[in-house]
Amino acid sequence: MLRLFLPGAGAEAPRVRIAGAPLRHLRTLRLGPGARLLVFDERGDEHEVELARVAERTAEGVILSTRRPERESPLDLVLATALLKGDRMDLVVEKATELGVRRIAPFVSRHVVGRGARVERWRRIAAAAAEQSGRTRVPAVDAPVPLATLLRAAWPPLRVLAWEGERATAFDALPPAATAAIAVVGPEGGFAAEEVAAARDAGFAIVALAPRILRAETAAIVTAALCLHRWGDVGRLSSTGRLG
Ligand code: SAH
Repeated sequence: MLRLFLPGAGAEAPRVRIAGAPLRHLRTLRLGPGARLLVFDERGDEHEVELARVAERTAEGVILSTRRPERESPLDLVLATALLKGDRMDLVVEKATELGVRRIAPFVSRHVVGRGARVERWRRIAAAAAEQSGRTRVPAVDAPVPLATLLRAAWPPLRVLAWEGERATAFDALPPAATAAIAVVGPEGGFAAEEVAAARDAGFAIVALAPRILRAETAAIVTAALCLHRWGDVGRLSSTGRLG
């Protein structure tokens, strides 16, 4: 069933008005009166909607039922990833969203080779991945900041930076329980030694992910998966929230 993110969807219940990009989506799929779809809003409510009318500029539907499924991870995870080349960033945003990351915080560091912040594009990708994967919250995507600015921000106490040069601490050595965390993964060119030192000074635990070197996009996705497995709900069942 088609699932759309529609901020404010519940405001005029039981009526729902659909316009703009979500409407184009409906029309591409040639959904007409009588068709059913799922709509979720910024409050985490998910509505089953039956379309009543589809016109050029707006569509209207009726809410048949509303639920508040629990499909969001209990871990509030920020994935801070260096700007990556070309469509690799798109991939990371999509996969991080599917996995359940709450916020994506891109940054620029010394060896970044990727250029151009396509923040609006990443936000659209995050919304589409949230729609497709059954999330009830679209992750925030920040505009990129310099690494030094990122490191200084007020993050939760559990701060992790993945570095292939780390020889003493593996990811598995991190605490067994957490409700919030930030995980930082570097660019294709890796982190400079001073950058790793600055992160350590800012309270980040420096960890190795594996005895091999992962490409930046792989490392970002794997780090999100490891965090959401250790402290979130990846690898678990949900009794109330399952989609479909
Ligand atoms: N230093 C290399 C590779 C960078 S890999 C180079 O200069 O080419 C890109 C990013 O992925 C790194 O900055 C790091 O954050 C992460 N990464 C890759 N493999 C890793 C590993 N085995 N352990 C921890 N982090 C890793």
